Amino acid sequence: MTTNSFDASHLEVISENIKRIKNEISEAAIKSNRSPDDVRLMAVTKTVCPEYINYAIDNCGVDLIGENKVQEFLSKKDLLHLKGVEKHLIGHLQTNKVKKIVGQVDMIQSVDSLRVAQSISNEAVKGDFEANILLEINIGDEESKTGFDKALFEESLTEISSLPNLKVKGLMTIPPICENTLELEKYFEKMSNYYEEIKNGSYGNFDFEILSMGMSGDYKEAILHGSNLVRVGSAIFGARNYK
Ligand SMILES: *Cc1c(COP(=O)(O)O)cnc(C)c1O
Repeated sequence: MTTNSFDASHLEVISENIKRIKNEISEAAIKSNRSPDDVRLMAVTKTVCPEYINYAIDNCGVDLIGENKVQEFLSKKDLLHLKGVEKHLIGHLQTNKVKKIVGQVDMIQSVDSLRVAQSISNEAVKGDFEANILLEINIGDEESKTGFDKALFEESLTEISSLPNLKVKGLMTIPPICENTLELEKYFEKMSNYYEEIKNGSYGNFDFEILSMGMSGDYKEAILHGSNLVRVGSAIFGARNYK
């Protein structure tokens, strides 16, 4: 079963997957002394055909979707039933694509440089609106990964927090691939502590509400360590086929 060509028999699988994942999210939220409503489920829709996405929206209560690529989102969006649905960009964004996407989504989660933040701010000023963003942190300091490394992030904090027409709603991360759960949980814990630290600081345009971490393989652990938004793709829609 793949995500990009429609097969009606797959709809029931999608519905069962979402039910199961929502239950698991609730359990993990309760275990970490929060209410099930405190943790949001994002359906990650990259490579997924519009029929499946619309089914998840219309029949399974999905009200938040995430796409990675500007072009893919723009070419799909008119086919989607997006009334009442929040759209976030979660993939790496190049400065030259900012203009195309910034007014089209409700949040950009993958802001990973001062330049991109400045560019989003500029567009928001021009359009006279406020842009919601998350700052993506490379919590494992991996060379191959997108996201701010911590040192650069701290250097940029003051400047980002004074950019006009920008609301920084929190942090996002993709942890390194880990050999075991214990190691993975250390990264989630580190990220969660970092989130609290910055949330409790005083930065002009920061209004922290969202810690976005956890994907198909690790959303339960992420929630147990403080995540309040999990980004789940393949566990909902099946394996991706990038062709
Ligand atoms: C693809 C993607 C996800 C979802 O990945 P799954 O493992 O399929 O759940 C989450 N976050 C980001 C940034 C992604 O690119």
